[in-house]
Amino acid sequence: DGGKDRHLVEYRPLGRTGLTVSMLGYGASPLGGVYAPIDEQAGIRAVRTALDLGVNIIDVSPYYGATAAETVLGRALRGVDRDSYVLATKVGRYGEDSFDFSAARVVASVEESLARLGTDHLDLIQCHDIEFGDLDQIVEETLPALAALRDAGKVRHLGVTAYPVTALTHVARAVPIDTVLSYCRYTLLDRALADAAPQLAARGVAVMNASPLAMGLLSRRGAPPWHPAPPAVRQAAADAVRLCDERGLDIARVALRFAAEPAQFATTFVGTADPHDMARNVRWASTPVDPELVRDLEHVLRPVLGHAWPSGRQRH
Ligand code: NAD
Repeated sequence: DGGKDRHLVEYRPLGRTGLTVSMLGYGASPLGGVYAPIDEQAGIRAVRTALDLGVNIIDVSPYYGATAAETVLGRALRGVDRDSYVLATKVGRYGEDSFDFSAARVVASVEESLARLGTDHLDLIQCHDIEFGDLDQIVEETLPALAALRDAGKVRHLGVTAYPVTALTHVARAVPIDTVLSYCRYTLLDRALADAAPQLAARGVAVMNASPLAMGLLSRRGAPPWHPAPPAVRQAAADAVRLCDERGLDIARVALRFAAEPAQFATTFVGTADPHDMARNVRWASTPVDPELVRDLEHVLRPVLGHAWPSGRQRH
């Protein structure tokens, strides 16, 4: 019942932007076939389902599926009232090992994204996976170039994303930004993003959480082959999946609610190209789970809690 589920969604301020966003956001990376080849029509229905159920913030990147995710998302958003959702994409990452945070490239990148997304402005533009770049360049060149686009009306707000939370706090201290995003850093397996949230909030920076299912680790399907988690983490996650199965509950439900609940996150982006999964996700993110089950899961996962993997060109 879409009408009923719509009322489930809680809205939160996106830092100081003046925008109000749903506690669950739509992450469009699966539209690029990042997890599995997709049925484009189903992917489009997943986007429409999210919007119909009250999700009003969408995250994408030219990197996802080598621009395919933005192209499919653009098709999904055709005819949808542009003022009814907050659209976020990224600059700087274009392939597994392909990064370019130069002013010239990111300015061109925004134009290309606008064309693929079929719009004349982005609500949020983020520097993508900054730990692979030079943080001095991000601060001194990339963000100023994006600020000029903001003054020209092409983008409304600026942010950065990274796996190492310290890269985010470093940039937020150096230059005014509106948002940060990290992924897999506040889940049943990690808490690093929550630890950093108060200092970011004190600067007026909105904290966005992504990958509540730890990119598939906390799902029955399990992690894709490219997943960077070390074997001990994969094993513990598989044990957690089994524990939930024994209790008759899909671990994705518990993982989603756990990640999305804290009010210190403006939103939590979950990705799926399946409209049925998306409908379940909206319901699950909004529905409390048995605290005893969460405690039991935390017990199983404690030995690997916070076991992060290396990401980027330097230590942060
Ligand atoms: P996720 O934790 O949301 O997991 C996605 C996987 O879980 C997919 O395989 C999906 O099919 C599956 N799934 C989703 N709902 C399910 C359900 N109800 N039941 C079972 N399986 C389900 O990871 P993600 O998609 O990588 O992250 C979400 C979004 O966050 C991304 O799409 C992207 O927009 C954003 N993100 C950004 C960055 C970055 O900026 N560096 C990194 C990671 C994620």
